[in-house]
Amino acid sequence: MIGASTQVVPINRDRLLERFIKYVKIDTAADPTTDRYPSSQGQLELGKILLEELVELGLDEAYQDDYGLVWASLPSNVEGDAPTLALVAHLDTSPEAPSNNISPHVVESYDGKDLCFANGETLTIEQCPELQGLQGKTLVCSGGDTLLGGDDKAGVAIIMELVASLIENPNLKHGPIKILMTCDEEIGRGTDKIDLQQLNADVAYTIDGGGAGVVDTETFSADAVTVHFKGRNIHPAIAKGRMINAIRAAADFLAGLPSNGCSPESTEGREGFIHVYGISGGVGDAAIEILLRSFDTNQLEEYAEYLTDLGVKVREKFPGLEVSLEVTKQYRNLRDSLVNLPAAVDLPCQAFEVLGRPYEQAIIRGGTDGSQLSEKGLPTPNLSSGQYQIHSVKEFACLDEMIESIEHLQILVQLWSMEKIEA
Ligand SMILES: [Zn+2]
Repeated sequence: MIGASTQVVPINRDRLLERFIKYVKIDTAADPTTDRYPSSQGQLELGKILLEELVELGLDEAYQDDYGLVWASLPSNVEGDAPTLALVAHLDTSPEAPSNNISPHVVESYDGKDLCFANGETLTIEQCPELQGLQGKTLVCSGGDTLLGGDDKAGVAIIMELVASLIENPNLKHGPIKILMTCDEEIGRGTDKIDLQQLNADVAYTIDGGGAGVVDTETFSADAVTVHFKGRNIHPAIAKGRMINAIRAAADFLAGLPSNGCSPESTEGREGFIHVYGISGGVGDAAIEILLRSFDTNQLEEYAEYLTDLGVKVREKFPGLEVSLEVTKQYRNLRDSLVNLPAAVDLPCQAFEVLGRPYEQAIIRGGTDGSQLSEKGLPTPNLSSGQYQIHSVKEFACLDEMIESIEHLQILVQLWSMEKIEA
């Protein structure tokens, strides 16, 4: 019993571990080379298994939709209109490291020294300083040759075990809870097929963060820019005064970008950047691909203006050249929408306080599914789920921190059940 009105119940540790191992063994790597949705068969397979488990747990509104997303609802067990809370995790794993034949192994009561993988590789404390804080805990490691897939199957297993604990312990009070397992998050398509009206939630949490005790409350705001250069091609023999070389113009443009900062390789923390990641073309046409990133959404416009001005300068140097910029909106800082529902951040922080655990609010130098959901009107911070070394072959997850996450969510759903949201 914790506090007067909230409580945690013991988590079934063995069952959680069993679930997690079962999920990670299914290869669900997203495939960026196809337009299919979901991009890989494994996501459908895992989704089917989860659906069966949700039905077995007694959730009647459970289904897998045509795109492979798994939806389920757990009805409220309190009187009155409690806010509807959605819990979101993604089924796919990163395509950036091998994910076939994942053979997880469990390290019970980790000794705090270099972490040894089944294939003989080690992860040193220097390579992963977070290991120092994990002594005595149970770690689940990849075999050393593949991903583990704790990103985000830790989140998936946490949500499944939370639901089981809520059903088995009706004394844990909660409002309506929606479960949503998404596909293809790792290739930027995680929210493409989410119908927010169907989800019909007041607040959501992605369970997709590293370590323990972190509430991610900010992400970058992001735009993409393509700069087109239209030159004029003609046989070099007769080119004098007639050829306009788009490649040279593009190179001139690149040379005009800030040289001492404002790039990913020269910034950290709250600093934004202009990131050139692609260039293509020939004499007649060339294009440069650029990402704009900042925690300050207004700064994206400043970046775009800077690039527009640079385009004008290049055009002046290459008479007859045409330069055009195409700016595509990508996602917006989570914070922009969280201001409309402060409880989305306050309650998870309060839940850590109830548990007497340290916590921090953090910023992500990237986007989450939550950035897009928040922008569409559903405030969605991201919570820790015990993941470490993600997207690498030396990935591991901390079982004890996964349990901590479930306990935190048990408190969080109770806090939300007592909350009122003004319409
Ligand atoms: Zn993830």
